[in-house]
Amino acid sequence: MMAEAQKVESLEFRAEVQQLLNILSHSLYKEREIFLRELISNASDALHRVQFVQLTNDDVLDSDAELAIRATIDEEANTITVADTGIGMTRDELVENLGTIAHSGAMAFLKTLEEGHKLEEIIGQFGVGFYAVFMVAEEVRVTTRSYLPEAGAWTWISTGDSTYRLTPAEKAERGTVVEIQLKEEAKEFASPWRLEQIVQAYSNYVSFPIYVGDEVANQQTAIWRQPSSEVDEDAYHDFYRQLTMDFEAPLLHFHLVSDVPVEIRSILYVPRGRDQGILRSRTDYGLKLYSRKVLIQDRNKDLLPEYLRFVEGVVDSADIPLNVARETVQSSRAIGHIRRALRSRLIKSLQELGEEDPEAYQVFWEAWGPFIKEGVATDLAGRDDLLPLLRFPTSKSGGDLVALSEYAERMQEGQTEIYYLLGDSLRSVERSPHLDAFRSNDLEVLYLVDPLDAFMVQSLREFEGNSLANVDDPDLDLPETESPADQPTPELEPEPFARLIARFRKVLGDRVAEVRESRVLKGSPCRLVSSGGGSERDLQRVRRLLEEDYEVPAKILEINRTHRLIRDLSRLSEQPAADPLVDLTIEQLFDNLLLLEGLHPGPAEMVPRIHSLLEQAAAAALPEDD
Ligand code: ADP
Ligand code: MG
Repeated sequence: MMAEAQKVESLEFRAEVQQLLNILSHSLYKEREIFLRELISNASDALHRVQFVQLTNDDVLDSDAELAIRATIDEEANTITVADTGIGMTRDELVENLGTIAHSGAMAFLKTLEEGHKLEEIIGQFGVGFYAVFMVAEEVRVTTRSYLPEAGAWTWISTGDSTYRLTPAEKAERGTVVEIQLKEEAKEFASPWRLEQIVQAYSNYVSFPIYVGDEVANQQTAIWRQPSSEVDEDAYHDFYRQLTMDFEAPLLHFHLVSDVPVEIRSILYVPRGRDQGILRSRTDYGLKLYSRKVLIQDRNKDLLPEYLRFVEGVVDSADIPLNVARETVQSSRAIGHIRRALRSRLIKSLQELGEEDPEAYQVFWEAWGPFIKEGVATDLAGRDDLLPLLRFPTSKSGGDLVALSEYAERMQEGQTEIYYLLGDSLRSVERSPHLDAFRSNDLEVLYLVDPLDAFMVQSLREFEGNSLANVDDPDLDLPETESPADQPTPELEPEPFARLIARFRKVLGDRVAEVRESRVLKGSPCRLVSSGGGSERDLQRVRRLLEEDYEVPAKILEINRTHRLIRDLSRLSEQPAADPLVDLTIEQLFDNLLLLEGLHPGPAEMVPRIHSLLEQAAAAALPEDD
């Protein structure tokens, strides 16, 4: 016969969980009350899961138990207990979920904590929320019994050090009981009043009753099922906070209520910050999907197009079939309908925000603009709806963001194209030689400096009948606008100019496709233009980002025959002694252009050449006989 003591197994936590526990149990976090939020959130998940199983499975232990959460307190013993009638855990699940195996999130959590994020705001997001209990607990015992009738009950015990114990338990009912022996300095939580207050602050919208003693402490309302006229702003914000653990108020929310042809009750939010997007792994997004308040899916990804994955919220529809596997939900016709309704309402709300509150829209655009661009590139059928949401800096906006419609309003007489300039940063595009002709003709140019832009502009071929044109297109026909009579500038004679062009060709070799005269440059000595068709050109940029070894095909070098530097260089090149200097200058001019285009493979490599040019300039400036 086995001795009782031998039934207790001792197991080790993984190293990163040990580290996490160590931090939690020894630090004095101000917000340690959130341990209760995490326990209730787990209990609520477990209740939703058993509720869902019961839709299709009759063979569930305790099938008529009330779905509820109960917190009880023993002030004398300084303990609290949080019990639920949820799905419970088998022995293996207990080990996997609270012990040894899972928790790759622990590392990520610790790292994010080190970066200065607030513990209470992030702990729920890494799959380690349960351990928050060790901020207040000396010892924790989790006794659980799975809904599977044949699984037994087990107890997990830990004091928050490096090991935990596991032992068979006596528990007749389905569900989980978390018993907490509070630390002496966490005594305040052994009070019904205090627990009720915490429940109201963090768990008010949990849809199962939370009893503290005999009283239900939470409001339990599914506010998305209430008429929007009865829900005030604070309630929307509160609900958002409890839904997302995002403590900043959302940028935008709307409440969609519709009954035909499909029932929809939905509240959607656009978060203000981008933090969430960074913290969250890419697959961890989606809306909560309910059917008559029963949670069908925690993160449904079919209710909005993928590029709108930054949106948070809930959708409830009685038309979503209940008794179906989760996989078939996505193919239901109701989902298709809801998706169209949500998408168009969201885009409309964003458009209104752009018109009515440009400042808030700017915040939106900075946080989520890349997602809208992704939509323009990927949602071919819906692209036109998204165009009013786009914003860009331009050559005339002084750093402000401009909508395409504003650009269109400012177009010149005779202008039929929307001009854009692709580059790596605002600072470099502002100095681009391509702008010479546009500046002198008073034409506005969109600056596309986000890496996604080259990709997006493939799909954005036109706006309201005006096609988009890249300013580095050598064949652009610019509308002539009257500009102040240009000073006649001396230009290089044809013959020396031809010789200089030959010299450029010789020095640069295969690195340029051609060298020729420019018809458009004014203040810049030269520029690079692309050979090949429009979309192929823009794609070169995308490929350069995506493919490690991709080399941008050689471009055409255009030279400004009237520029002082070009004229001097021509004179210099007639003197054999100056050969090395001429060659260095040509090389440097070419590198400067690559830099301005954002195409230079290694700017630091230019430094020795620049030094050599500086040396020669310094020597030339000194008196001859030095
Ligand atoms: P998360 O809830 O983000 O997954 P937690 O650390 O809070 O991370 O919980 C880890 C896991 O432990 C849960 O995913 C769940 O599988 C299990 N668990 C925790 N509490 C309960 C409970 N009351 N009932 C059933 N399972 C639970
Ligand atoms: Mg949890």
